[in-house]
Amino acid sequence: MRIHLSRPDITEAEIDAVTEVLRSPDLSLGPKLPEFEAAFAKYIGTNYAVAVNSGTSALFLCMLAAGIGEGDEVITTPFTFIATANTIMMAGARPVFVDIDPETLNMALAKIEAAITGKTKAILPVEVFGNPADFDKICQIAEKHKLTVIEDSCEALGSALNGKKVGTFGKMSTFAFYPNKQITTGEGGMILTDDEELADICVSLRNQGRARGSTWLSHERLGYNYRLSDINCALGIVQLSRIEEIKANRKKVAQYYQQMLAGDDRLIVPAESQGCDVSWFVFVVRLAENYSRQQRDNILQAVRAREIQVSNYFPPVHLQPFIAEQFGCSEGDFPVTESVSERTIALPFYNNLKEDEVAIVCEALKQALDETRL
Ligand SMILES: *Cc1c(COP(=O)(O)O)cnc(C)c1O
Repeated sequence: MRIHLSRPDITEAEIDAVTEVLRSPDLSLGPKLPEFEAAFAKYIGTNYAVAVNSGTSALFLCMLAAGIGEGDEVITTPFTFIATANTIMMAGARPVFVDIDPETLNMALAKIEAAITGKTKAILPVEVFGNPADFDKICQIAEKHKLTVIEDSCEALGSALNGKKVGTFGKMSTFAFYPNKQITTGEGGMILTDDEELADICVSLRNQGRARGSTWLSHERLGYNYRLSDINCALGIVQLSRIEEIKANRKKVAQYYQQMLAGDDRLIVPAESQGCDVSWFVFVVRLAENYSRQQRDNILQAVRAREIQVSNYFPPVHLQPFIAEQFGCSEGDFPVTESVSERTIALPFYNNLKEDEVAIVCEALKQALDETRL
């Protein structure tokens, strides 16, 4: 590949920080863990942060801490990464999908209340692609119906809505640090909350059910090993310290794309919604409504043939075979999600993508569009 879909941005400072841990005796549960958690909580503006080994683990522990289990329903979006729905199912609950808004690509506000039943325990909204539009309103609906909001902020580190940072809307929120996210720890995740009791439960669940401060071989609940090593935490501390620089670089890359693709009516180019400060996760354009899924797939192929990595974020979650089968979902259930999913093209996007590389990608995309007969 000439141009990759995503690339981590690791400087000598990260390498030095990791090396320092490797020269120490504290590879896990050492000083870097609380340091990373404190820095993260401070950046987002919550009282507590609990680091875990992935964003998926973070979401799953939120479900357990919120008491979600067998017989419960959790409302979420079908236009997301699979982990959002999987973690509801891992807790034994049922994901209840709500179709998306074609502009924000987040859950359509008008459709949320109709999905609430006597079994609904929580709403799990996602700031998809980093866009926090309408989050305050989702929280109002949850409050009205006394539902817990667990915020899947795994794509939105650094985004804000009307000056309020993403990760502060839910009772609990989660972030993820896989190498394609805004910051990486290799693998990793974070749970944020203002609630001390929920934070303590998560600390216990991630560490074999040990209570905070208890002895090594006393276990007060069924727990897991979802710890994040100090090696990962050291990497995270340096990455987080660079978040403003990272956010600015990504905004710049997004602007190159917006400028170079402007005015092409074959494409819907993403822009920041009103009141939103988007920390760009990916740059996903959509083909106009008159393109089919087959034509989109042909365009993906044509761009890949030029050694440029592109992807189809996201296929609808409700149509993943194991979910469709278990919950009886089928094509046509969520028409906006399905229509959007058929026409997305995720373009290469990372901190250090250069303007001339963005130009190469845009030229390849336009060439592929020119070659596509409608
Ligand atoms: C990345 C991501 C996660 C968590 O992913 P991990 O790979 O487990 O860290 C969860 N939800 C969404 C929406 C994501 O994009």
